[in-house]
Amino acid sequence: MRKVLVIYTGGTIGMMMDPETKSLKPFEFKDVHQQLPMLSLLNTELTFESLLPLIDSSDTNPEFWIRLAKVIGENYDRFDGFVVLHGTDTMAYTASALSFLLENLAKPVILTGSQLPLGVIRTDGRRNILNAIEFASVEQDGHPMIREVCVYFQNALYRGNRIYKDDAARFNAFYSPNYPKLADVNTFIDYHKRYFFIPNSKNPLVVHDKMDTNVAVLKIFPGISDVLLETVFQTKGLRAVIMETFGVGNAPTNPNFSRVLQDAVNRGIVIVNVTQCKGGGGVLMGRYYTGKNLSDIGVISGHDMTTEAAITKLMYLLGCFTDVKKIKQAMEVPLRGELTLEDDVFEE
Ligand code: ASP
Repeated sequence: MRKVLVIYTGGTIGMMMDPETKSLKPFEFKDVHQQLPMLSLLNTELTFESLLPLIDSSDTNPEFWIRLAKVIGENYDRFDGFVVLHGTDTMAYTASALSFLLENLAKPVILTGSQLPLGVIRTDGRRNILNAIEFASVEQDGHPMIREVCVYFQNALYRGNRIYKDDAARFNAFYSPNYPKLADVNTFIDYHKRYFFIPNSKNPLVVHDKMDTNVAVLKIFPGISDVLLETVFQTKGLRAVIMETFGVGNAPTNPNFSRVLQDAVNRGIVIVNVTQCKGGGGVLMGRYYTGKNLSDIGVISGHDMTTEAAITKLMYLLGCFTDVKKIKQAMEVPLRGELTLEDDVFEE
């Protein structure tokens, strides 16, 4: 029998209607079989563990990600796969952070949650948990079929560091703008195996435990003031900035804008260019003079990374290295399948 550890961290999924007060409160996972009697039909041995205190996912932070990564690391040899029950608001950040913290991961770590609490009749949580457990336990040729951090939500399995939450109301809450789904769940499960991450399974799991939060996200907009720009780049301790630019990585070219950026690059601040476009595509700084100007200054490309992946990757790399050159190099190559280099093409 396959063994799966289900780690409950909080969020909407774990809420129950209190029959007396009629308000939502976190539910005791020891009673999970009452809520989900069909768990006993799965051919999987389940262990439930709560990561206390349970949190609304708005309260996640690097400390929480490192704790979660350590729980997975400590239990790595005892289980075939892991399910993390998590609030949807920051699930994309946690999935991205885990993908970087768990180097050489060769087992499935599937995050899921729900838009409606488990204790509500129309909940999406029931199916999300059951399918996540199935993905965490499926094997092929004697090893786990999925060997990366994923998010399972509303009939789809995604690479965790490729998605963002794009809907606060619909059950279909996540979107992967630049990478195909890993599986579609209908009456049958359609695995898109050619998109699965293939880890170097010869190397043992390394659980990283350092992240540096001296990063900022700066969304560029027409009319952005010099004082705002200067203030951001003068932030005490700042080591890196993710700049969300227009289109394929374009930004204003006025002399002051360029001067502030050039000064920051000269001081060793890493500036990563990601696009504001949410529907797909990435940064191609050579395409327009407004993007070329940035690469001439020394801004590096975030390619087609989501902002969520770029932030967590930077925090991770800043935790690993002090050498700015190394950080920049690692930022521009895929470490866990989080970005597409321009010549990689996906055939549907
Ligand atoms: N605020 C909740 C959370 O992210 C929302 C959810 O779980 O869907 O923890």
